[in-house]
Amino acid sequence: MTLLNSTESLRAMDAAHHLHPFTDASALNAKGARIITHADGVHLTDSDGNRILDGMAGLWCVAIGYGRPEIADAVARQLRQLPFYNTFFQTSHPPVIELGHLLSQVTPDHINRFFFTGSGSDANDTIFRMIAHYWAVMGQPDRTIIVSRQGAYHGSTVAASAVGGFGFMHAQPGLPVGNILHAPRPAWWAEGGELSPEDFGLKVARDTLALIDGIGAHRVAGFIAEPIMGAGGVIIPPDSYWPALSAGLTERGVMLISDEVICGFGRTGSWFGCQTYGTTPDFMTMAKGLTSGYIPMGAVGVSDRVAEVLTAKGGEFAHGYTYSGHPAACAAAIANLGILRSEGIVDRVADDIGPYLQGKWRALADHPLVGEAVMTGLIGAIQLCADKGARRAFDEDLGVGMMCREHAFANGLIMRAVGDRMVVSPPLVLTHAEADELVEKAWRVLDLTQAQLGHPGR
Ligand code: PMP
Repeated sequence: MTLLNSTESLRAMDAAHHLHPFTDASALNAKGARIITHADGVHLTDSDGNRILDGMAGLWCVAIGYGRPEIADAVARQLRQLPFYNTFFQTSHPPVIELGHLLSQVTPDHINRFFFTGSGSDANDTIFRMIAHYWAVMGQPDRTIIVSRQGAYHGSTVAASAVGGFGFMHAQPGLPVGNILHAPRPAWWAEGGELSPEDFGLKVARDTLALIDGIGAHRVAGFIAEPIMGAGGVIIPPDSYWPALSAGLTERGVMLISDEVICGFGRTGSWFGCQTYGTTPDFMTMAKGLTSGYIPMGAVGVSDRVAEVLTAKGGEFAHGYTYSGHPAACAAAIANLGILRSEGIVDRVADDIGPYLQGKWRALADHPLVGEAVMTGLIGAIQLCADKGARRAFDEDLGVGMMCREHAFANGLIMRAVGDRMVVSPPLVLTHAEADELVEKAWRVLDLTQAQLGHPGR
């Protein structure tokens, strides 16, 4: 491919033929895409040979780090043996059977059945259809409303984007956005006002339950939420939030859908975020860490009480994807779960690298630009702000988060900007030295952002 031997020619071809997700094409094409060519461990290499610490594990997914030959070998073996067969028409195959069995061992005890998909978005779509089917079978067909949260991200299909709480994703004309309500989010720094975090967490839980009571709990099929909101800015809820909310949902017979696409597979220091927060979901959405992103795959975990009804009297569930249980994706997931388990990676997040990085990360709160620095497991955020004491944000038009992100890229660190919140979610195999590198780079990047703003630091 002589055409593609320089960064410049790669960028030109990319601009000519590739439409990127969540991207303003004209702004990107004016500048040219960053081209990543290699990766190993927690580091990426770009087409100019720069080495970059990937503080985002790709898109929150590369839990085991880059370049693990075990996954490549498992996938290659599977592709040689059976590259594809479907799971429709009363058919199954060994990798999908093994993966279901393995997942039943690592998910909470009451989750033992799995429906496989190609991504997190279509896993959520599957749940929206399955939950409606469940309530119809249960003789409660009026339970059709899904309650979600403002600022939530649940995917980009029509249904998942409507359920998500990003207003700008609802803006395309004519999209069906029905039977969905958005509850407040437990974002204390931005919205907690004078309340303590604990009182604010309780207030948001109560307001959510009041919203449900207002439309009638008998009409609500389920409440969907990420244990920790990821793409919405890594909003770590106050400890009071989940116990109060989940007890109220149970009282009202509203099922909890725990979207574990980011929080699953060790990210929060437990296998699943619902375990970190002590909730008992009826549905779990999984993707990303399921295969560490090596091959696309998602899954839906279904509780015993739902699965028993559906398997005993649900009849045909008219839903499925060509790639439900794709053999090569299953092989990647099996090898990935094998690495997570044999190397004790989830426990290491809870007991070793998690607490180590959290300590250093929280110290970033001493920087003059940082209003709060939070982290649970290996998922964290720093809030950039104009005035720490007053919890006053920067003027949105300044684009401080983007400014900071650009400094991060230029200094060999990937952090993501959600407004003026800088978020990280590094591979779970991060070493102590790499954690030091991440925080040192983050501090330098904050200094550069402060200098560019000419901010006095309050
Ligand atoms: N749910 C959550 C919580 C997510 O973060 C994402 C993706 N970032 C999705 C669903 C959608 O997953 P996918 O991009 O694999 O469709």
